[in-house]
Amino acid sequence: MKFVEGKNVIITGASRGIGKGIARIFADNGANVAFTYSSSEGPALELEKELTSKGVKAKAYKSNAASFEDSEKLVAQVLEDFDGIDVLINNAGITKDNLLMRMREEDFDQVIETNLKSVFNMTKAVQRTLLKQRHGSIINMSSVVGIKGNAGQANYAASKAGMIGFTKSVALELGSRNIRCNAIAPGFIETEMTDKLDEKVVQGWRDGIPLKRGGSPEDIANACLFLASDLSSYITGQVLSVDGGMAT
Ligand code: NDP
Repeated sequence: MKFVEGKNVIITGASRGIGKGIARIFADNGANVAFTYSSSEGPALELEKELTSKGVKAKAYKSNAASFEDSEKLVAQVLEDFDGIDVLINNAGITKDNLLMRMREEDFDQVIETNLKSVFNMTKAVQRTLLKQRHGSIINMSSVVGIKGNAGQANYAASKAGMIGFTKSVALELGSRNIRCNAIAPGFIETEMTDKLDEKVVQGWRDGIPLKRGGSPEDIANACLFLASDLSSYITGQVLSVDGGMAT
């Protein structure tokens, strides 16, 4: 059974990592995939080709999620290229880690704008379309760090906690129009973002996870598939932890 067959999905930040995993699983399940990147054009175009070869419509767009203007232009273009929008996955994100003592103002601002303001930008941009059609599923990629906090990530944790408040508020505002909005809180998922971390720190994290391993992009993609599909049609305003038990 293909859970999202024929649905049109927009995924921000899918040129690599978790977003790429999500794009692949949606295409495997028959969804048409519009996805963005900020600088990795080569990998994005390769992914576009790969997804298209699975028999669905797929297109890569260069678009800065932190920009309100870019997000509006992106959604207008996707609406021209695809026949509507059913699912929005706000996945693009960055880290600029440092202890508060050493964190620069621009590191705080950039992380908030890319991780949190982007969610406002994209949700505003698709809102009218979803309201008109009276259905839609919005999925916001938060983090275990947005629930528990993390030393050295005050900016990142604030952005991810902010996404949870945003998610719950939008779920309340749009529920009566059959538009659902949920967040996923991944734990430690092994991607390029985590490749930047010290191997000893990484092993320490793995040891502390009840399931004793880091997650994969596919683990997160499967949760997205569930929240995008009618299997979760009575679920909104929730934060689904996909973290091997880390937040427990
Ligand atoms: P990666 O660094 O591997 O990939 C990030 C993706 O976001 C890339 O496709 C990148 O595009 C894109 N991106 C970055 N900035 C922008 C921007 N301004 N506009 C559009 N796209 C942008 O990250 P992950 O796959 O690891 O993480 C994906 C999401 O999951 C993030 O929101 C992250 O915070 C969250 N998350 C990750 C966890 C993990 O352990 N990996 C844990 C918890 C949450 P480009 O290649 O062009 O730069």
